[in-house]
Amino acid sequence: MRAVASADSPSMDKVECVVVGAGVVGLAVARRLAQAGREVVVLEAAETIGTVTSSRNSEVIHAGIYYAHGSLMALLCVEGREALYAYCRDHGIAHRNCGKLIVATTAEDRARLAAIRARAAANGVTLELLSAAEATRLEPALACTGALLSPATGIIDSHAYMLALRGDAENAGAVFAFRAPLERVRATADGFILEVGGAEPTTLASAVLINAAGLAAPAVARAIDAMPRDRIPTAYLAKGNYFSCTMRAPFSRLIYPVPEPGGLGVHLTLDMAGQARFGPDVEWIEAIDYNVDPARAEKFYPAIRRYWPELPDGALEPAYAGIRPKVVPPAIAVQDFVVQTAHTHGLAGLVNLFGIESPGLTASLALADHVAEAL
Ligand SMILES: Cc1cc2nc3c(=O)[nH]c(=O)nc-3n(C[C@H](O)[C@H](O)[C@H](O)COP(=O)(O)OP(=O)(O)OC[C@H]3O[C@@H](n4cnc5c(N)ncnc54)[C@H](O)[C@@H]3O)c2cc1C
Repeated sequence: MRAVASADSPSMDKVECVVVGAGVVGLAVARRLAQAGREVVVLEAAETIGTVTSSRNSEVIHAGIYYAHGSLMALLCVEGREALYAYCRDHGIAHRNCGKLIVATTAEDRARLAAIRARAAANGVTLELLSAAEATRLEPALACTGALLSPATGIIDSHAYMLALRGDAENAGAVFAFRAPLERVRATADGFILEVGGAEPTTLASAVLINAAGLAAPAVARAIDAMPRDRIPTAYLAKGNYFSCTMRAPFSRLIYPVPEPGGLGVHLTLDMAGQARFGPDVEWIEAIDYNVDPARAEKFYPAIRRYWPELPDGALEPAYAGIRPKVVPPAIAVQDFVVQTAHTHGLAGLVNLFGIESPGLTASLALADHVAEAL
């Protein structure tokens, strides 16, 4: 950090931009701003990058199928997906454009495939409608009445991606401070005075403040004295539990049921090593808790057997959980990304990122462009 005299204190460190949070979104924003020639400091409460939601997800590069036409999720997912594939190719990040099948298992489900395909088309995403025979030719272990093939969907080594983002940001001059939680912020005429806690508490001044604190983004907004309280959304937590498959699953594509109200259904994703996992389900919780209750497997077995009847008893093991940073209550559940600028809250230089749940990993590069343009 460069020590520059500031109006408040002659010895206070002063930087142009502070990004709060080194998850995948904060990293992408820090990289984008540093590469644009801005001076950037990243404050991260944890000991390293990407330890929270960014390492508790499905690592799927989403196509952009289900989001409401014109929503930020729809726009930034499609834009971000293309940018992410290009980034992976350019930086040698492990990824696989494996494709995904959305499978119907009843005549009723089959009738819903056309509506899903139309919504995807409105978002600029092409899906191929397959008969049951065509789908089982691709995936012989599948039981279905029809399917949609999404060729654009893929998987990524999200940790390698985050390391590359950090490397790019540092090469462009960004500085990372770990175990450095932002605790309080005072808005001034020309920016913000930030009180940072942790082992080495410090105070610094910045002109730009990007709140990319994920689950804690509403709490960070509340720590800003001048932030209008009515603009800070209530944080809701929607946990997603995963079960791993103890055997090699006989699929080479991701398999999703037709979505049900409130969720995408119990789906099968693959990691880069080909290991299958099922989930995430939706469990609304009051406090952060990443334990997976083994009893939830009882609901997974019948749901999976609708499209994979041969799933053996005892094949599922509790794996891990992630928590969706919701800003809408369970009765609504469907939300869009919320990117707040001075237009919303009146504080020049402050960008709040709220509700960055899935497809935040896919959209990260596009979200970073969006933030840079908003500034
Ligand atoms: C179950 C689940 C599955 C998902 N699957 C996918 C998927 O397959 N594909 C996809 O595209 N997206 C997926 N997502 C979404 C994706 O994981 C998130 O959108 C993304 O990781 C959010 O990144 P982030 O940087 O905003 O938040 P985080 O990764 O949570 O990072 C926020 C950081 O801020 C830090 N922080 C918090 N408070 C402070 C403070 N006061 N001071 C300093 N630092 C602070 C935290 O320590 C943390 O490191 C999924 C999400 C969930 C929950």
